[in-house]
Amino acid sequence: MPTLEQLKQEICDIGKRLYQRGFAAANDGNITYRVSDNEVLCTPTMHSKGFLKPEDICLIDIQGNQLAGAKKRSSEALLHLEIMKARSDVRSVVHCHPPYATAFAVAREAVPSCVLPEVEVFLGNVPIARYETPSTQAFAETILPFVHQSNVVMLANHGTVSFGETVERAYWWTEILDAHCRILLLAKQIGRVEFLSPQHTRELIDLKKKWGYADPRQDSAYADADLFADDVFRASWAECGVHAGAFGAPAWSRAAAQCNQKPSAGPLPSFDEEAFIERVAQRVAQKLQASMSHDASH
Ligand SMILES: [Zn+2]
Repeated sequence: MPTLEQLKQEICDIGKRLYQRGFAAANDGNITYRVSDNEVLCTPTMHSKGFLKPEDICLIDIQGNQLAGAKKRSSEALLHLEIMKARSDVRSVVHCHPPYATAFAVAREAVPSCVLPEVEVFLGNVPIARYETPSTQAFAETILPFVHQSNVVMLANHGTVSFGETVERAYWWTEILDAHCRILLLAKQIGRVEFLSPQHTRELIDLKKKWGYADPRQDSAYADADLFADDVFRASWAECGVHAGAFGAPAWSRAAAQCNQKPSAGPLPSFDEEAFIERVAQRVAQKLQASMSHDASH
């Protein structure tokens, strides 16, 4: 079991990685680490995650009351504590604003699956939680519908939160998600996103099971599912304002019918040819008249 000092150092190290990758501008982001049933280490408010020292880390209880530390705890601690209360296996939570994943959360675009093998194995489908004002209890509770089915949740118009049994693990999911979102956006700029076949996607979900990573799609209810269209979190999309389709859909999925249509050009602006000819004729007549009267005056 690492000492309290070692755990504080781990938080500082991950804070540096977050900051260096541009996942937390200025003083954004926060990290927690549960050290006992009722004690949690927490990063301080108004402090860059890139320059934390072990003595900056606060100690709070599971209700968010500060127990120790010279600096005030992060105002987002409530979000972290809700996750810890819901998941006894979670010891660390990382919240930040990684730009590519946050772009999806702002666009409220569901992250398409069946694209990259490692992403399928480590992340699977990723939910987007509905928007609430940060640092409130209502905001903290937005993630509750998803915490048992994913280790990373995107926060609508805000950022991401990921969690695990160590701070490094908690951070992993954020880094994988942001890299995935970045690749998707780059591929779309080139022109298109090609998808894995349902067979290959199924093999990855089976591999995931073999490696000990849980995924709701391993459930027998998903045995005959359309692995693209039957996103695990689709039922939450309407409430959270989430859409899908910016990246198209694999031809084998029933989602292809809606997503792969070429954007329609829309109706042509109406053009009244008669009125146009009338206006031109009037102009010509006016010009002729003007030049004739000009000639006559000389
Ligand atoms: Zn935030």
